[in-house]
Amino acid sequence: MGSATPTERQPPQWYANNPQARYSFSRLATFKRCPGWFRHQYLHWHKSPIRCVTEVGHVVQRSLERVMDGRPADSVTLEELTARAEQRLELCFTDEWNRKRDAFVANPSAIGGWDLDFDRFFAMAKRGLAHHIHEVTCCLRGIHPTTGVKLPIPPVSTVAEAWQRAKPWHVDPDAPPFSQMEVVPGGWFQGEPDLVYGWTGGRRIIDLKASAGSSPFSGEIDHQLKAYAYLEQACGRGLPEGLEAWFLGREERYECALPSPQELEELERSIHELIDLAGSERGFGAWSLLDFEPKPEHPPGFEPAEGDASAWCATCPAALVCPSSARSAPAIGEGVGFDQLPKQGPFDLEGEVAGFGQPNEKRPGKWTWRFTLLNESGAMSFSWDASSVEGMIRAGMHAGAHVRLTNLRPYVLPSGDILVYDSAATRLQILS
Ligand code: SF4
Repeated sequence: MGSATPTERQPPQWYANNPQARYSFSRLATFKRCPGWFRHQYLHWHKSPIRCVTEVGHVVQRSLERVMDGRPADSVTLEELTARAEQRLELCFTDEWNRKRDAFVANPSAIGGWDLDFDRFFAMAKRGLAHHIHEVTCCLRGIHPTTGVKLPIPPVSTVAEAWQRAKPWHVDPDAPPFSQMEVVPGGWFQGEPDLVYGWTGGRRIIDLKASAGSSPFSGEIDHQLKAYAYLEQACGRGLPEGLEAWFLGREERYECALPSPQELEELERSIHELIDLAGSERGFGAWSLLDFEPKPEHPPGFEPAEGDASAWCATCPAALVCPSSARSAPAIGEGVGFDQLPKQGPFDLEGEVAGFGQPNEKRPGKWTWRFTLLNESGAMSFSWDASSVEGMIRAGMHAGAHVRLTNLRPYVLPSGDILVYDSAATRLQILS
């Protein structure tokens, strides 16, 4: 990595005012996969489609959390508790599944249908519950769940008490996404582990995965878990007792070695190097294109598809507009190129809809809604009045659609950059 390094960091209050500047494991991992992917997602803030396989993990996680939060009767036996937890899991899982499916189908960023096998993912949730029952059983016996060693902890006298004591910390399943992130005191890094068990006397961090652990993303698990360990240490709790991933599509738990002091130092250095490179503390446009060219890594064991530079290109949201991928975006058609926007309107644009953000209250009472178009001239995002975007969504605009927007107007910034807005005469045509 290159670029100037600021000698002083922005203070925590600056990060509190600019929470989008905080780093996370996801940003580190994205940059490591490919700087071009990072640029697309975190420097241009282009929106991406969502697919059902990335949504179903929340169904598994939330249904497990709701079951873990249950309070059994004092007189319950382990067999009764297990049977009731399984019954409750089926109810919670079905409820979460239906809610997530309905939200997915209604989401304009969704690509493809909700074509998932209920039984397959319910089996994963059941495996997660079996791992949790193992924790409860070990708590009852006073032995460590991974080593079997007798623990010097106060004994529990009932199954119900063991269930209560073993209950892991997790974010509130009803809280808005990312609202319960833990932030390092300096403000620059945040994270949100799935489960934290504390009944053994130490903290064990568990990451839940609704997969068998066979994708390129699964190879990032050590990096992810060690980032949680970094967060623990930076927040003053020292290293955790253990780091585990539960790939719920397979039997065994995955245990990750705790990071060495050198690994933690290296992790912190890599966060600051990326902050400096991306210019995150110098204003959000202060980065060099040269530092964020498409240069993908090669995930071990995965071959790229024909014409792609790396196996990562198959899942990269920039692939349609990246010269290193085999895919290509639609032509500019009857519109103008994003790289040749006129300084006077009206003009038209054509492209494939990549995805939408969430409506955002930019200032009191003023709501905007961001969306991204892709065509052969590149990617461009637009933050328009939310009611205009809502109208286009109602008219059929959704991720993957090829659209034409007519009678647009430019807004030339002092920097010379051009923003594009709709006008009263703007119309949407769905081309395919
Ligand atoms: S398509 Fe491949 S090379 Fe291009 S930005 Fe994405 S990961 Fe990098």
